[in-house]
Amino acid sequence: MKIKFLGAAKEVTGSCFIIETDKTRFAIDCGMHQGNAEVEKRNGDVAVYDPKNIDFFIITHAHIDHSGLLPRMTQNGFRGPVYATEPTGDLIKILLLDSAHIQETEASSRIKRLQRYGKHEKILPLYTKKDAEAVCPLIKTKTYNEIFVPGNGIKANFLDAGHILGAAILELFIEENGSSTKLVFSGDIGRCHQLLMKDPVTVSNADFLFMESTYGDRDHKGEEDSLNEMAEAIQYSYSRKEKIIIPAFAVERTQEMLYSLYLLNCDGRLPKDIPVILDSPLAIKATEIFRHYRSYLDGETQSLLKNGEDPLDLPQLQFSSSTEQSMQINDMEGSAIIISASGMANAGRIRHHLRHNLWRPGASIVFVGFQAEGTPGRNIIQGAKKIRIFNEDIAVKAMIWTIGGFSAHAGQSQLLDWLGNFQNKKMPVFLIHGETGAQEVLASLIRQKLGFDVTIPEYMEEIRIKAGIQLEELKQPRAVKQPVNLSPLLDELKAKIDYINNQTEKIQSLPESRQTEIIELLKKAGSNIDEIKPNL
Ligand SMILES: [Zn+2]
Ligand SMILES: [Zn+2]
Repeated sequence: MKIKFLGAAKEVTGSCFIIETDKTRFAIDCGMHQGNAEVEKRNGDVAVYDPKNIDFFIITHAHIDHSGLLPRMTQNGFRGPVYATEPTGDLIKILLLDSAHIQETEASSRIKRLQRYGKHEKILPLYTKKDAEAVCPLIKTKTYNEIFVPGNGIKANFLDAGHILGAAILELFIEENGSSTKLVFSGDIGRCHQLLMKDPVTVSNADFLFMESTYGDRDHKGEEDSLNEMAEAIQYSYSRKEKIIIPAFAVERTQEMLYSLYLLNCDGRLPKDIPVILDSPLAIKATEIFRHYRSYLDGETQSLLKNGEDPLDLPQLQFSSSTEQSMQINDMEGSAIIISASGMANAGRIRHHLRHNLWRPGASIVFVGFQAEGTPGRNIIQGAKKIRIFNEDIAVKAMIWTIGGFSAHAGQSQLLDWLGNFQNKKMPVFLIHGETGAQEVLASLIRQKLGFDVTIPEYMEEIRIKAGIQLEELKQPRAVKQPVNLSPLLDELKAKIDYINNQTEKIQSLPESRQTEIIELLKKAGSNIDEIKPNL
């Protein structure tokens, strides 16, 4: 069989792996690519998926980086079933509609922006609500440990990945030419002892493993430390009468934040008069889905719920569904905790809150999840002095907190422990869903400590696999990547600076207002170059 890596290859977003056997062609996950403009271009390149010829999708969990391109597939002729667990099915429906809404609004604001420059261009959204709605009837749900037959010669089984509600590890049993091969896709592996979620199930055998590696290079701090940091951040801005902004994914991270605030409240560490505002209609709906699937939650949460306690509720909690309510928050005096999406600050309402608070000394921006390369969230935590939001440069003066311990991903040691459960030491391991640095650290630890053969696939790489055959014999020669040639660009820049340099006298003879204008433009050019530094 052949496997093609259409995403989550040396990156964390865009998960999609197309498998082709002698009888069927299907895909695991259909994630959206998120990051800089170059990476996001891949979302438009639908031909590489060939959606009409995909028989079915199996989705490991609802996060957009695993499900967000499904509407692109229905838009381009995919009509097969989409298999997922029950909660994933429900979460996908609301997440895709929300994502379509974001795509539509972004396309229309780009059109308006161009119109202001006198340009009339037709810009289509990546997909529309109609495309997202077309996915809903295709979803077929399964429970954990219910072996199902999605296609000819394929058996599949979901196991609890402990990452977010309904998240699954996928076992695939593939019959081809009379022999059977077992593939395991880890999906995103949850952190042990995570609030709300059960611990990930361990697996002991497979012929090939495709494992996530998001935190391959580090361990998280303990939950207690994270709660203390959260309390500290709240106190910091509460005492300065400023706001605490928490960018959080609407699914799981928001609920975990509510749970954490509930715990702080029980300990008397949450000021009684601080409003906690959940500013995300999507997160409000997702929280309802969490309450609905009680049996998927961990023992501790279930017993709290049984005793009439609700760890997803707080006396200070307010919901803001409408845009008007959301806008009112910005006029609110005094301190407040605002939880809003998206978690990486690249879309959604959170951008308004950042625009109103990022420049305020005394305010806090608390990052509680993974920030992918190229996103505004990543730039802020890497120390950017200003961030461009809605075409405006906003200074970063607020206190920036990065609390890693709330992660819904296993840290390095836990990934190694999980992998250590596999008995077949000849099993090739493919590291996916991680940035190169983290993957290389994890790969060498795996080779050293566990002795597995590890491969880190490239984006668009295709491999052939067959049980019992050493991976070395199956690897295709890799295309050599051409490094980016910066010289012509830099030469052009230098020539421009030289030109200005030679015009100094002329500039000095201009009226003062023209001179200040030129100075502003030069400053802007300089600060554009400064923006490169945090990437290096
Ligand atoms: Zn995930
Ligand atoms: Zn993911």
